[in-house]
Amino acid sequence: MARINQNYDKLAAGYLFPEIARRTNAFLGSNQGAEVLRLGIGDTTEPIVPAVLKGLHNGVDSLGVAETYSGYGPSEGVTPLREALAREYGALGLSLSADEFFVSDGAKSDSANIQSIFSQDCVVAVQDPAYPVYVDSNVIYGRTGDATDSGYDGLVYMPCTEENGFFPPLPDGKVDLIYLCSPNNPTGAVATKDQLKSFVDYALEHKAIIFFDSAYSAFITDPELPRSIYEVEGADKCSIEFNSFSKTAGFTGVRLAWTIVPKACEAEDGSAGKLHSLWTRRQNTFFNGASNVVQAGGLAALSSDGKAQTAQQVSFYLENARIINEGLQSLGITTYGGGNAPYVWMKAPGGLTSWGFFDKLLNECHVVGTPGSGFGPAGEGFFRLSAFGHRENVERAVASIKSKLAI
Ligand code: PLP
Repeated sequence: MARINQNYDKLAAGYLFPEIARRTNAFLGSNQGAEVLRLGIGDTTEPIVPAVLKGLHNGVDSLGVAETYSGYGPSEGVTPLREALAREYGALGLSLSADEFFVSDGAKSDSANIQSIFSQDCVVAVQDPAYPVYVDSNVIYGRTGDATDSGYDGLVYMPCTEENGFFPPLPDGKVDLIYLCSPNNPTGAVATKDQLKSFVDYALEHKAIIFFDSAYSAFITDPELPRSIYEVEGADKCSIEFNSFSKTAGFTGVRLAWTIVPKACEAEDGSAGKLHSLWTRRQNTFFNGASNVVQAGGLAALSSDGKAQTAQQVSFYLENARIINEGLQSLGITTYGGGNAPYVWMKAPGGLTSWGFFDKLLNECHVVGTPGSGFGPAGEGFFRLSAFGHRENVERAVASIKSKLAI
């Protein structure tokens, strides 16, 4: 008799974004002709830059010629792309070898799939609030108990609050797997080297592993802030890093990412190299590699023209964040993030809950954002605005908030 994975039933009602869509559609249904300005989901909107587009075209063209046609490639990614990625980290002063880079179709799937190489009884710690995938995928894998008002039983929440600058203190007691995201989705906070070092030291002491999601590292403008956890000494022994072309190169629909599993990285019961070989095995078994066309695009994104052009696009989104921050602050609203991240994390005015402010912003200003409570219990009372919109939309949304929000 086929039985279902009961863990799915533990998932707290409704994923965040479907609920946003439901409320937005209900608003549009009862306000015929109204236009809604969306600063909600963190999806890119600017077209792919010319140098990268050319790489993608070349990837397609090479498939039309017998001499350059390629079929299945290595599931870890093509060598030139892995080498180019290793060179990027080399420019940060880090020596990681090309075969420690695993190219994939997304940091989302990798940050969930990585659990499969760890024991079922590992205790997991997450920043609170957090990118929902970390929590939900652990629920599905059966590493938590049931949902309660304060989160899932068995999961260790590390609150990120105004008081701690949205970077958590070390977990109380021993945990085994720790998710850290910097620049952070949703708070926009960027961890300093000292903050990361405190977690690396903890992980080395407790034989824990850090999953470091740096999908937004390209948005860091402050030269003092670390772009990779491996900038902290010893991190290669205890950290696995995820990154992506999604937000940097506009690849949210194209799909290309990478995960770094250093050979030095060691679990409590396995010697150095074991995690690297397990992830290789996992990928070889479940995954047939990212699209060869897309990998050609990724390689072009790492060319000097590609880097210059994508950097301009990143600056463009950061300017959107600045416009949002400036508009909100002019109303006396407290905001965080934005300077080194594409998200602005605002405090809901008047002591409103996150969803209370969602409804107010939608009804009064016709602007859609993302309720902070959807990212975890500590997100309650906060609200995320995304800087990934078209400039005109961002400006219109900010103008609408400035002229219509009653606070
Ligand atoms: N990690 C974080 C923190 C994200 O916010 C997102 C997307 O919003 C991802 C990963 C997803 O990356 P990808 O598009 O490579 O799956």
